[in-house]
Amino acid sequence: MIDNLAIIGVGLIGSSLSLALKQASAVGQVIGYGRNRENLEKGLELGVIDRHHDSIAASVRDADVIVVAVPLGAMQQVFAELKPALKSTAVITDVGSAKGSVVAVAGTELGELFPRFVPGHPIAGTEKSGIEAGFASLYQDRRVILTPLEQTDQDATAVIEAMWRACGAITEYLSVEHHDKVLAATSHLPHMLAYALVHYLSNLNDHDEIFRFAAGGFRDFTRIASSDPVMWRDVCIANGDALVSLIEQYQQELDRVATAISAGDADELLKLFSRAKSERDSLIGNC
Ligand code: NAP
Repeated sequence: MIDNLAIIGVGLIGSSLSLALKQASAVGQVIGYGRNRENLEKGLELGVIDRHHDSIAASVRDADVIVVAVPLGAMQQVFAELKPALKSTAVITDVGSAKGSVVAVAGTELGELFPRFVPGHPIAGTEKSGIEAGFASLYQDRRVILTPLEQTDQDATAVIEAMWRACGAITEYLSVEHHDKVLAATSHLPHMLAYALVHYLSNLNDHDEIFRFAAGGFRDFTRIASSDPVMWRDVCIANGDALVSLIEQYQQELDRVATAISAGDADELLKLFSRAKSERDSLIGNC
């Protein structure tokens, strides 16, 4: 049970966390902070938060746990503003989609309180953003990756693990580097492909007609291109090296497909599609 929880950034991820903890009776008071007052008033109305303050410092002063759920590019500023107001026993965590950049700025800004910081990333979300997109079951049976460092306090890690478990999530541990490499392949690369495909098609002369006749496959493949552009700009900046290397390898894969098509190499195409189908079928079966 967390008595006072502060959520900095009450959007999809932050509001879903609050709703899940409230549903599980695992939290007392939830204090929300964001730049937009109307958003926070909406949060009060929806029962997502119990109160809000005008500054990050005032929001975290009494908090036992602080969850930073803002876009990656805003993390440093948030850590800098919350540090002077923290209780020495407080536990801080984040939900950022890349971990190396967050750990680096947390290390700089939190100073002697850095061992109270437990980096985290819920592998759950939708293409929607904002407080009204949140829902209590978002984390049910979904994985949350924690990437504590050697110097992270074990009791702090235990608090954050218990918080996510109360939401119905399955917690797993990875190193920061491993997390960023794996997530670049499984999440960041697919988002780049979806954005690039829709952007490419929208530049074609007959794009109105193309989108008019777009069928289910197009919708499935491009759903994530409706994700928040600020969030994904920040992910690219934060995890650029791993991502660019994967994009380059993927370009080679596309070249292989184009070569097989140009050569009319039916066997090669069948082999490639069969292997991909079997991998995806077993992946979905295991989810
Ligand atoms: P979101 O719905 O857009 O919410 C972000 C919230 O942060 C907004 O409510 C915004 O409110 C607030 N915010 C933005 N800049 C801020 C700043 N400088 N200071 C204080 N508050 C600020 O985004 P989200 O999808 O919840 O993503 C939040 C974090 O979760 C990101 O780091 C993302 O990488 C990570 N994540 C997202 C997903 C996903 O699928 N969406 C999945 C896993 C992890 P105001 O505009 O009112 O300030």
